[in-house]
Amino acid sequence: EWVNFVDFFHRIIDRLEMTKEQNVTFKRELPKQAIFVEIDADKLTQVLYNIISNAMKYSPEGGQITFSIKEQEDHIIVSISDEGMGIPKENIGKIFTRFYRVDKARSRKLGGTGLGLAIAKEMVNAHGGTIWAVSEEGKGTEISFTLPYDVAEEDEWS
Ligand code: ATP
Ligand code: MG
Repeated sequence: EWVNFVDFFHRIIDRLEMTKEQNVTFKRELPKQAIFVEIDADKLTQVLYNIISNAMKYSPEGGQITFSIKEQEDHIIVSISDEGMGIPKENIGKIFTRFYRVDKARSRKLGGTGLGLAIAKEMVNAHGGTIWAVSEEGKGTEISFTLPYDVAEEDEWS
């Protein structure tokens, strides 16, 4: 289905912002104009939920989570960044693998099965996009993914 991804992202952030019990602040860097993409909304909801729930889980008290959308020629880049503990360089290639969790001891008390990002990757790939992580230990993590987007088609709509 065709969805204005900016509104769609706002609604998901709104819901998590209203129900969060943690002291984290949300910062939105989202475009004002609509961006129409053809997606499976249920699956993209799951992708965003999996990424954002990690950002919250691994955020420190008072941390900030930033949401952004950048428009490129034929795709958009959606990013969620946090100010959490980060992921060591040697582990970053594995976080999209099923059941993989960085440092079992550290993760155990935070809970989870290690499936969230593997599922997100499958769903992003099924939409023709890619997903990756940029992280610095002690500073934070940014998870980004792309979604194909056709500017020409966009113009026909407006
Ligand atoms: P689940 O999502 O199934 O509840 P999980 O959160 O442990 O469990 P994933 O979401 O797949 O699993 O993430 C895999 C691992 O990557 C995590 O266990 C954690 O070690 C690391 N990770 C993911 N996101 C972050 C983040 N924002 N900051 C720090 N580490 C992260
Ligand atoms: Mg997770």
